[in-house]
Amino acid sequence: MKTRLLILCLCFSNAIFAQDAPVTGQQILDSANQAITSISSDEILQLIDKQPDAVIIDVRTQFEVKLLGTLGLYQNVNIPRGWLEFRIAETAPSLDTPIVVYCGTNVRSPLAAKTLMDMGYTNVRNYDEGYFDWKEKGLDLNMGTLDSTTLLYQRPKQIVDGVYSAIGAPQPSTYENSGHNNNLSFIIADDAVVVFNGGGSYLLAQAMHEEIKKITDLPVKYLVYENAQGHAVFGGSYWKEQGVEIIAHDNTPEILEHTSTQVTEQARNSLKDKFFKSRLLMPDHTFSEEYLLPVKGRKIVLKHFGNAHSPDDIQLWLPEDNLLISGDFAFNERMLPILEHTNVREWIENWDKLETLNPGVIIPGHGDITDLQTVTYFTKDYLVYMQDKVEQVLDDGGDLTDAYQIDQSAFMQWKTFRELSLRNAARIYKMMEFE
Ligand SMILES: [Zn+2]
Repeated sequence: MKTRLLILCLCFSNAIFAQDAPVTGQQILDSANQAITSISSDEILQLIDKQPDAVIIDVRTQFEVKLLGTLGLYQNVNIPRGWLEFRIAETAPSLDTPIVVYCGTNVRSPLAAKTLMDMGYTNVRNYDEGYFDWKEKGLDLNMGTLDSTTLLYQRPKQIVDGVYSAIGAPQPSTYENSGHNNNLSFIIADDAVVVFNGGGSYLLAQAMHEEIKKITDLPVKYLVYENAQGHAVFGGSYWKEQGVEIIAHDNTPEILEHTSTQVTEQARNSLKDKFFKSRLLMPDHTFSEEYLLPVKGRKIVLKHFGNAHSPDDIQLWLPEDNLLISGDFAFNERMLPILEHTNVREWIENWDKLETLNPGVIIPGHGDITDLQTVTYFTKDYLVYMQDKVEQVLDDGGDLTDAYQIDQSAFMQWKTFRELSLRNAARIYKMMEFE
């Protein structure tokens, strides 16, 4: 009798079943899965290629995204599952906008896809493989914290004998990446270690020192600020306690004086408790064009190619290794920023100096280790393109609105495109308007 009742129950519809027991999450998930269509990672790549206005939605929580990372696509946005109904309208402009949703283990995203379809969206697909498969396949990521046992975004890796670099996140400085969004490098000579870039905070510099101590017992004697930006200088407060001499360009002290209040405020707001003990210190020694570091057993030359990203950019040249630490003179992986004191015309002109040096290996200011061809593509070619386009706008009697319209879609998948592309167009326009 009992068995027969059970069989009867199974035959009933959900509604009747629900009288005895609640509908389970699994049942809701199963019915959602029947109603939706899935999409593979290859198809996502084809989709964004053909339809750049597609929207890829990571429906995990903000916390998961910041900690674990997310898809590194321009089209990728994070709308947590709980906010989807309320925030979808501002992201997908029309009901037939191609939408892809995904999460980590394909539990939340089928429900998200079904919800969007119920709301009337007609072109919704579920990326059922999800974030972890994308990551496993080695596809482009916007990563969260990579290693929770150090404040560094990545630990330093050896580039050539005695030269190491900890590659920062190709993102803006955030609390999660601890402000490690630029490359922090060090060189081991016979009698001392030279650190290139102080890091964005006291604690970040300390984390870097922990890594250096694993590799050598030699003292860190010199710290080079690549320029006056926060992520180059705030760690100086830690390094000074270790007795280093801080070296920067002649123009750095003046820039630091003018910007200190603003950059300190910015860094404090973004890093919060991680900004603990961080202070801005003036350099002990500055130079104009070239400076040979007084270390033993290794030729380490500091250079200043001239006005570029900043009026005080420093490059570190290792002639014996044919290796250049370019500082912010050269970029990789992400879009470069045009700052208030960036000089686009001279940056392009001074590029010759880098080409003449012809380094075999480049540790760029941002992005992974690379070569001259790659940094030329990410730096000079972009600057030339933008300069030409703005010139065209001015020749045609256009205004700032037209500068915003400049087609930058070729750079859409570069990291920081979303944050910087429009601002760059506006800044270049304003600079060239009065030339
Ligand atoms: Zn930088």
